[in-house]
Amino acid sequence: MKVLNNKTNETSEIPVKGFFVAIGHKPNTDIFENMIDMDEVGYIKTKPGTSYTNIEGVFASGDAQDRIYRQAVTAAGTGCMAALDAERYLTEKEII
Ligand SMILES: Cc1cc2nc3c(=O)[nH]c(=O)nc-3n(C[C@H](O)[C@H](O)[C@H](O)COP(=O)(O)OP(=O)(O)OC[C@H]3O[C@@H](n4cnc5c(N)ncnc54)[C@H](O)[C@@H]3O)c2cc1C
Repeated sequence: MKVLNNKTNETSEIPVKGFFVAIGHKPNTDIFENMIDMDEVGYIKTKPGTSYTNIEGVFASGDAQDRIYRQAVTAAGTGCMAALDAERYLTEKEII
C-alpha cells in the first residue's frame, strides 16, 4: 500500500494484504452548533442512559451522539431509544 501523508506530503509503502479504511472522526453536527449542547469535537451530549438533549423535545442518537462505539448496531439501538423518547414526549404533551 502506498501512503501519502497529506500534512507532510511524505509518501511511504506499507507491505499489507488488505486494510480497513476508518474515515470521519468528526460528527456531521455543525448545523446544530450553538443550538444544542455538544462536546469539544461536536458530539451531541445526551443525559446518560437516554436520548435526551439539553433542549426539551429534541433527542439525539447514532453517530451524532455516540463518540465511543460508532457502529451500525449501536446507532440502530440508540435510534430506537430516541424514537421511543420522542413518542413519549409527544404523548405527554398530547401532540399525538
Ligand atoms: C467506512 C465505514 C465503515 C463502517 N463499517 C462498519 C461496520 O463494519 N459495522 C458497523 O456496525 N458499523 C460500521 N460503520 C459505522 C456505521 O456506518 C455508523 O455507525 C452508522 O451508519 C451510523 O448511523 P447513523 O444513522 O447515526 O448515521 P448515518 O448512517 O451517517 O446517517 C446520517 C444520515 O443523515 C443524513 N444527513 C446528514 N446531514 C443532514 C442534513 N443536514 N439534513 C438531512 N439529512 C442529513 C445523511 O445523509 C445520512 O443519511 C462504518 C462506517 C464507515 C464510514
